[in-house]
Amino acid sequence: MTDRTNERRIEYPDCNAGSGDGDVRIIVPWKDDSGEYTVEEIWHLEDCPEYTLQQILSEDGVRRARERHEWEKEQFPRTLERFRAAVAEAGENGQAPFARALAELVEMQAEDTERGVSLGAFVEVLERHFPGPDGPARPPHG
Ligand SMILES: [Zn+2]
Repeated sequence: MTDRTNERRIEYPDCNAGSGDGDVRIIVPWKDDSGEYTVEEIWHLEDCPEYTLQQILSEDGVRRARERHEWEKEQFPRTLERFRAAVAEAGENGQAPFARALAELVEMQAEDTERGVSLGAFVEVLERHFPGPDGPARPPHG
């Protein structure tokens, strides 16, 4: 990877904050379309309306993400049940390789719903069901 990081210091003119005592520094890392990382430093006075608004939006974002995750944890077992029923109905012989690969990946996710299935697991499952001409590719040290 050739990710680079640029640092940019931004002082919002609205409240004339700097790095003085009591001023609030916000670090905002983001990755642009070219894959470059930029770290922005934004300074506000503690009583700056813009800062207050950002705090509210940030807390709202956290709350929404938490609510969404709770919904996902409730919904997943119901979705999983329907998926398993469909897999069972198709039977061993009725399952095309892509369906078997999907079934394995779904079951891996079902084992631990707090983590996403890793890229490594996707490669391993897809290589097994869709091997290249020389057979399933193996990772280094694997
Ligand atoms: Zn400000």
